[in-house]
Amino acid sequence: MLSCDVPPVAITTAETSSATVTSAITTEIETSMTTETSIASATSAAAVSSATTKSSPGVGLVVGVIVVPAVIAAFVAFLLCRRYRRKRQTQQAKAGYYNEMSSPVVWPVQSSWTPQDSRCLMCRMNPKNNGFDFCGPSCRDGARNQAPLVLEVPQGHTTFTMVEHKFQQSWKVNTPCPQVKNVYRIILDSTSVESYDSYLWAHGNESFRYHGTERTCAIGQDGYTTLCMSPSCKACSIIRTSFEISLSNPGGAFGQGIYTSSATNKSARYTHSGIMFLTKVVLGNIKTVSRFAEVIGCPPGYQSVVFDRYGGNWNETVVYTNDAIRPVFMIAFG
Ligand SMILES: [Zn+2]
Ligand SMILES: [Zn+2]
Repeated sequence: MLSCDVPPVAITTAETSSATVTSAITTEIETSMTTETSIASATSAAAVSSATTKSSPGVGLVVGVIVVPAVIAAFVAFLLCRRYRRKRQTQQAKAGYYNEMSSPVVWPVQSSWTPQDSRCLMCRMNPKNNGFDFCGPSCRDGARNQAPLVLEVPQGHTTFTMVEHKFQQSWKVNTPCPQVKNVYRIILDSTSVESYDSYLWAHGNESFRYHGTERTCAIGQDGYTTLCMSPSCKACSIIRTSFEISLSNPGGAFGQGIYTSSATNKSARYTHSGIMFLTKVVLGNIKTVSRFAEVIGCPPGYQSVVFDRYGGNWNETVVYTNDAIRPVFMIAFG
């Protein structure tokens, strides 16, 4: 036990000794620091003394605290402004539609659209995606969320020119072709679009056809796009819920169906108010006939009946399912 008691004493002694050494070193360091502090203080005092002999302390304070930070801040602000301006100019150059001084077009001021304009029909600013009427999925979905929606296509727009050209080319008789006054893009809701697409996938053979109809309100007249609630207004009904077989005449020449034509002169005979729809139609398997009442309804195995009367100049195209047809454009003519 005693032998065990000895080492702690020795250690204590050693620790004490070590502590003394440490203390001595610490004191030495502190002394050294004190000396350095003294030297630094002396140097600083000398510098201040030297500065005091050159200028007054008030001017130095103003320069150091106010002027220098202000100059730096102004320089940074200048750099940021220049960077923002260049970025904006680059974006405008890419858009390619309006210069730095103009603002985006306000709809429906038609005069603000330039000939051969091809802007998105929804945002009216970005270029439309080729083959479509919107600049991208964002505007397309935004339009569908507001469906049923009627968007005016201004005169001079590439889409207006395309519809007008098709209308004139489809006028198959020698009588003067009426003037296309207004063109409107019809936007249907997603459910309506999807059910048509499903039918198209199932049967194929999509084509464009015309359908003349009546309106009892001012829809389509001089840019008027608000739908009425009248059940007798066929134009608004078609825009709202597309075509409805059950509302069609059961005594039609080829039975109860939706009647369209590839000839605008033929469709024009079914309207007194100058309203026609350019529709997309799924023809599927076509039953071609050569006289009226050759079939009264859609024969089994077919999806449409076509009668190319007078070489197609008075074409009759009939489909028998709601999902086989959707309105795409409404045309006001006269
Ligand atoms: Zn857009
Ligand atoms: Zn109406």
